[in-house]
Amino acid sequence: VGKVFKTENRVLVYTSSGTGGLESALANLISPGDQVVACIGGSFGERFAAIAAGYGAEVTRLEVEWGQAIEPADLEQVLAAQPEAQLVLITHNETSTGVTNPLPELAEICRRAGKMVLVDGVSSVGSIPFEVDQWGIDVAVTASQKGFMAPPGLAFLSLSPRALARSQAVKNSCFYFDWQRSWKFQQGGSTVFTPAVSVFYGVQEGLRMLFEEGLENVYRRHRRLADAVADGLQALGFQLLVGEGSRSAVVTAARPPSGVEATQLLTRLRQQYGVVIAGGQGKMEGEVIRIGHLGAASEGDMVQVLWSLEAALREGGQSDKQGLGVAALTRSLVAV
Ligand SMILES: *Cc1c(COP(=O)(O)O)cnc(C)c1O
Repeated sequence: VGKVFKTENRVLVYTSSGTGGLESALANLISPGDQVVACIGGSFGERFAAIAAGYGAEVTRLEVEWGQAIEPADLEQVLAAQPEAQLVLITHNETSTGVTNPLPELAEICRRAGKMVLVDGVSSVGSIPFEVDQWGIDVAVTASQKGFMAPPGLAFLSLSPRALARSQAVKNSCFYFDWQRSWKFQQGGSTVFTPAVSVFYGVQEGLRMLFEEGLENVYRRHRRLADAVADGLQALGFQLLVGEGSRSAVVTAARPPSGVEATQLLTRLRQQYGVVIAGGQGKMEGEVIRIGHLGAASEGDMVQVLWSLEAALREGGQSDKQGLGVAALTRSLVAV
């Protein structure tokens, strides 16, 4: 997993979902009253901030409209105004909106300001370029069920020496997620509590698949599918939520054409066509549809999704765009 994080740092594993990994990071690094800056542009950014507040942090929110990316210049300003803040929370790929935040630039600003960078990389590690060591990420968190293509159940954290040192002085107590206790066992090749053994086999196979294809090729495949899906959706009259520069390679969010209700469309897709795509989260519920194209997603999968979307729209009385979505998707795929 360290090779996917691109790091020489210590990597810990927990039996938990991704959120447990985020909680582990904050429980080990926050003492009550600590100042934290949280970058928020969707429901996962909100979650990261909420966990920090739960451990007693005073959270300064750098918020952008959902669908927008965090601007490095804005972070620079907020950090200058918060000299006491030691930690910065960043969601690399905001899965709820399909935004990829400019992590290398944001991390560089934190580095220059002498802050620690904690990254929710659950939907980005193994799916889009991620460089823990090169970008100077103190804590990166990911989980088994996204880029690793395995069942849910394991969270992974890479920890910089600086993060480890800080954790020793922190005055919060956690038990299950305590880094020192976990490392004592993991350095000997075991775990302190009962691990989700079956999921390790899934991750092992996921890693084999990633390295067999090559990480760079995996990233390229995701980008190519994302661009094609964006073209296909637009040809069907969907409105993309995110502008070109920050549009994620792993998930695409779009508002349906006028007169189409997102929730009904998703139900029809699932029931009649066996295609499961996501709806909006949090305040985007009912507003958008989200198509995932990470992990083992293929060209054929995307053709099926677009074809089913066209058919479901037709059934809903919207037949003027027949064939256009699949055609635009295919045109985009053959062009690259
Ligand atoms: C999926 C995801 C998580 C983790 O969710 P869990 O359900 O706890 O595994 C966290 N952050 C992001 C950005 C995600 O996409």
